[in-house]
Amino acid sequence: NENYKKFLNKSKTERKAAGQIIKAAEAQGFVDIDTLVTKKLKNVKKIYKIFQGRCLALAVLGEKNLVSGANIIASHIDSPRLDLKQNTVYEDLSIGLMKTHYYGGIRKYHWLAVPLALHGIIIKSNNEKINITIGEDPDDPVFTVTDLLPHLAGKIQGNKKISDVFEGEKLNLVAGSIPLGSDEEKDRFKLGVLNLLYEKYGFTEEDFISAEIEAVPAEKARDVGFDRSMTGSYGQDDRVCAYTALEAILNTQPPDRTAIALFFDKEEIGSDGNSGAKSNFLEDFMSDLLFISGQKTDNRSLRKAMINSSCLSADVNAAMDPDYKEVHEAMNAAKLGFGLCMTKFTGVGGKSGSSDASAEFVGKIRQIFNKNKIVWQTGELGKIDQGGGGTVAKFLAKSGMNVLDCGPAILSMHSPFEVSSKADVYMTYLGYKAFYSDND
Ligand code: MN
Ligand code: MN
Repeated sequence: NENYKKFLNKSKTERKAAGQIIKAAEAQGFVDIDTLVTKKLKNVKKIYKIFQGRCLALAVLGEKNLVSGANIIASHIDSPRLDLKQNTVYEDLSIGLMKTHYYGGIRKYHWLAVPLALHGIIIKSNNEKINITIGEDPDDPVFTVTDLLPHLAGKIQGNKKISDVFEGEKLNLVAGSIPLGSDEEKDRFKLGVLNLLYEKYGFTEEDFISAEIEAVPAEKARDVGFDRSMTGSYGQDDRVCAYTALEAILNTQPPDRTAIALFFDKEEIGSDGNSGAKSNFLEDFMSDLLFISGQKTDNRSLRKAMINSSCLSADVNAAMDPDYKEVHEAMNAAKLGFGLCMTKFTGVGGKSGSSDASAEFVGKIRQIFNKNKIVWQTGELGKIDQGGGGTVAKFLAKSGMNVLDCGPAILSMHSPFEVSSKADVYMTYLGYKAFYSDND
């Protein structure tokens, strides 16, 4: 968990997480698939592929023909956050501010009155790419969304529903308060902010149009509790599964069946887009693997490689919260510290939107875990008709492969300080590793 915390601190966006994963993979001898193809390298068993800088796959080629399927673990590396809008800098009441648009399912009040860091990239008009990280170093400034003081909140917020109290358009970042130029000029506080951005990073207001800048909690991962048995951090959904899947594949001996770790983007907004799980990224990677291992790459072979694969959809479940037990059904809820959680189905209402793993496949995974002394539990995401949610499982199941959701259960999911059990995180790693070593 010490290395896990370091990973979290350096992986606060999908691009940063992808960078950390590649760094760790290259250190263990993984080779970029494009390099391998161009240089016609032979006998390379460890391969990775990065796509769009924020979606990637690692593979350890097995002894068996890939057409007989791979063991796949699919996590996601995007997390809820505030993205800067494309027209973002403005001023109001002599304060320089930046407009944001939230990404994923957030509780808006979590983002008020906390220090936020900015991470991202800007493509300038000359096509130069600038990376920025502001607010992670203790000497850096941070940004914040202001909140209303309790003394004055009563009349305008007191009787409203919680969903109406906090407005997305009010999640604006405080970005400066020193004006530029003389009294006669307009927008001096906005200019103050833009001027600093130009001086320090060389980019202009228009450059925000082609930028992806994310405001995320500036705090670092911390131990939680007197006994330090838990980790508190932003972004554990789903970087806890990304990290444990990464460690599992890095520590997998050359297997019989090819081992693949997928790290998707865009899960928190529905898995759309070319870097999300609904894209053809996996098919593309599979066909690359067939090609480099000298197997047939026709459509039928690819279809067989997909349908014969087994997949763990590596995502978190909600641990039962002592303060909100009423949203769970105790007999079927996951609990913190009770090990890796298998979630047979997700969805809402009558299992709507769920791929619902087969009894046979759940049985197979249960046997693997039992054989390897993995501490596991099962969990449903909340009581029936209480709410619900989904993962990448159904998008992978579409190709015919068996998929089961499997990951640790955490507290305060989607908050800036999610809590995981260190024992569960370790069990997740061991469980994923056992799955990769399964040869049937
Ligand atoms: Mn997730
Ligand atoms: Mn999520």
